[in-house]
Amino acid sequence: MSNTAYIGIGSNLGSPRENCERSIVLLGAHPKIEVTARSSFYKTEPVGSRDQDWFLNVAIQIATDLEPLALLDALLSIESSMGRIRAEKWGPRIIDLDILLYEDSVIKSDRLKIPHPEMTQRGFVLAPLAQLAPNLIHPMAKKTIRQLLSELPEDKKVVRL
Ligand code: AMP
Repeated sequence: MSNTAYIGIGSNLGSPRENCERSIVLLGAHPKIEVTARSSFYKTEPVGSRDQDWFLNVAIQIATDLEPLALLDALLSIESSMGRIRAEKWGPRIIDLDILLYEDSVIKSDRLKIPHPEMTQRGFVLAPLAQLAPNLIHPMAKKTIRQLLSELPEDKKVVRL
């Protein structure tokens, strides 16, 4: 499979570890997706509404023959099959799958933005990603993932499990 992409995974409802594991199994079961690496789990303080449980986050590297929009559709269909109901933007969720990076593509369409627009401000994305790909260059910031993580203010707790 010809393209490398990184997916950010998060959950804070039900059994977050099982939800994350299940989403990785479902991703790997797709005929055009191969899971090639995964980070540790991270326990992370929620952004937005504080009145919710901490999240569990993990990042994976995949090899894929899906183009970015087709990959987004695959992620959305896994989210739906796992029972995700879209409610408030920052609210609790059974599973959240985001395309963080896709090769060195920069995409700014209505449905899809790559690199994921908020990833440079989020420790819960950068910490697991830095474990997988510390020297990868963010194609817009032109900095490595390790550097972006080191520049982040430590206002939200991110604990590697
Ligand atoms: P949410 O799950 O609340 O983060 O929002 C999902 C929506 O964000 C999807 O329906 C996509 O259309 C949109 N979106 C834009 N860029 C991305 C991306 N890089 N990865 C996943 N979803 C994205």
